[in-house]
Amino acid sequence: MAVKIKNVSKIYNKISVVDDLSFEIKSGEIFGLLGPNGAGKSTTIKMLITLARPSEGKIEVAGYDVVESPFAVKRNIGVVLQQTSVDGDLTVWENLEFHGRMHHIPNPQRQELIDRWLEYVELNDRRSSLVKTLSGGMKRRLQIARALLHNPQVLFLDEPTVGLDPQTRRRLWEIIKDLNRQGMTILITTHYMEEVEFLCQRVGIIDAGKLIELGTVDDFKQKYGQGIMVTQKGDRIDYQFFPTTQDANEYVNNIEDKTGIMIRPSNLEDIFVKLTGRQL
Ligand code: ADP
Repeated sequence: MAVKIKNVSKIYNKISVVDDLSFEIKSGEIFGLLGPNGAGKSTTIKMLITLARPSEGKIEVAGYDVVESPFAVKRNIGVVLQQTSVDGDLTVWENLEFHGRMHHIPNPQRQELIDRWLEYVELNDRRSSLVKTLSGGMKRRLQIARALLHNPQVLFLDEPTVGLDPQTRRRLWEIIKDLNRQGMTILITTHYMEEVEFLCQRVGIIDAGKLIELGTVDDFKQKYGQGIMVTQKGDRIDYQFFPTTQDANEYVNNIEDKTGIMIRPSNLEDIFVKLTGRQL
């Protein structure tokens, strides 16, 4: 197991913002952690990457306990957070050089790794550019190169594609898939459900600090329904699940007034909204 979370809670001001959370991530898996704003995703990631201490429970990442061996955990993880951005007043190379030194990677290996990952994220021709001159997508790719430089076992991506244009987002998806093909375990948080359907082998949905669903997207569709009937009445839209689209069609066939009714296969977003009761 790459990540083990057992009965973990995080209490801020007497409130459990993460509440008795337990799940595991297998080595080589892309795991999606979903939940509406305020659900406790960031707090969970902070505990996993040793930036916050669990109030209760036990967390192991890459085989190390986050409280007992935080440095061993840090050596074995790569992190791309929203907040920890790259330094705009340094060049692309300087950012990686700095990170490589922080991780005590000796030369010439350090330069080889910098070259390799710059090549990989297609930023080699920008190595001497100041980071503040890069586009949002380039900055994100640099963050990924930096997260990979010290050869981590587990990669944490917190909303990696937020604010990027669709082309750039798809390029990042390819990179994430390719890294996973090479054996990287990845935990990703995102509000983009099509991203989850494309990338994640398994998904955990949390709401108000609690895990409310865990499984594959197909598991969820089996459980909640593969077909959905969408009914638009004025400004209001209702959703009703059916085991299959055929069941939904049969149901609609018996309705006289079919105005505003549409049948389609259900998707993760439908299930997410049903479970968390809120649109993202
Ligand atoms: P998400 O990432 O799912 O949006 P967060 O983990 O950021 O959720 O937040 C979960 C809850 O914990 C929120 O209600 C937030 O206000 C609260 N919270 C997060 N960090 C702190 C903190 N350092 N002190 C107090 N409350 C916090």
